[in-house]
Amino acid sequence: MRIVHTIAETREIIAQAKSLGKSVGLVPTMGYFHEGHLSLMRKAREENDFVVASIFVNPIQFGPSEDLEKYPRNMARDSQLAEGAGVDFIFNPAVDEMYPKGYNTYVDVEKITEGLCGARRPGHFRGVATVVLKLFNIIQPNSAYFGQKDFQQLKVIERMVTDLNLQIRIVPMPIVREADGLAMSSRNTYLSADERQAALILSKSLRAAEEMIHEGHTAPEEITTTIREFIGSEPLARIEYIKVLDPDTLVTLPTNWKNALLALAVKIGNTRLIDNTILKR
Ligand code: AMP
Repeated sequence: MRIVHTIAETREIIAQAKSLGKSVGLVPTMGYFHEGHLSLMRKAREENDFVVASIFVNPIQFGPSEDLEKYPRNMARDSQLAEGAGVDFIFNPAVDEMYPKGYNTYVDVEKITEGLCGARRPGHFRGVATVVLKLFNIIQPNSAYFGQKDFQQLKVIERMVTDLNLQIRIVPMPIVREADGLAMSSRNTYLSADERQAALILSKSLRAAEEMIHEGHTAPEEITTTIREFIGSEPLARIEYIKVLDPDTLVTLPTNWKNALLALAVKIGNTRLIDNTILKR
């Protein structure tokens, strides 16, 4: 499996695959692969003739006090794992290949980016939408694969694809978890042993909310209050947000809701973790 660093070479490889009538699947990532990433690659492999994974730690989606510098990287391990998952090539550009001197164009998806992580990480989704549109233009995939772990990101990409008339099928994929329930994330490597244990409070609270629905407690305010207390009982946890929202629009639910997004962002020590589930009644 090849690792390609330039846009020009990537375009040549894609043009060749397309000239043979091959369908192209893209899995955009920041690397440091885990089973969550690999599940996207396997799905792309099943559904396409040619599979590209991109690895790019995109500086413009990180805030000034965030973890850009220390974000985990391991190209040798990633390429082995990607090859095992059936990826045909990895696109791994340098920062100045993607944002050369004079770069000045950004994609702003409005409204849906205002709440949740968008409110806590100004500029984050502008960076995400910009890099994903660039990747779409460079790789021209038929289908692109995104995890529901980053639920708001998925919605932002879907909005962008609709609004800008991109002919790309966006495939949402379920959250992959560790055996004990923790949602897989490259950032889990930051957690100490105690923090790793404390981090279970996120997935446990999602299960507790599902239990509440089961018992007929469906008012969003009641769910958020209970979950706030539940997470508050973990001394290492600091809540950023707990929201119950409409999963399509990310705005407040009507009282007769059928499906609701419960989304959490919680700091465990210095590590910011997110998780979510779709509640059904
Ligand atoms: P990242 O490398 O963290 O930017 O993630 C790349 C892609 O993998 C995104 O579409 C994520 O939503 C997806 N992803 C990350 N973690 C998981 C997970 N635990 N389960 C499923 N997909 C995931």
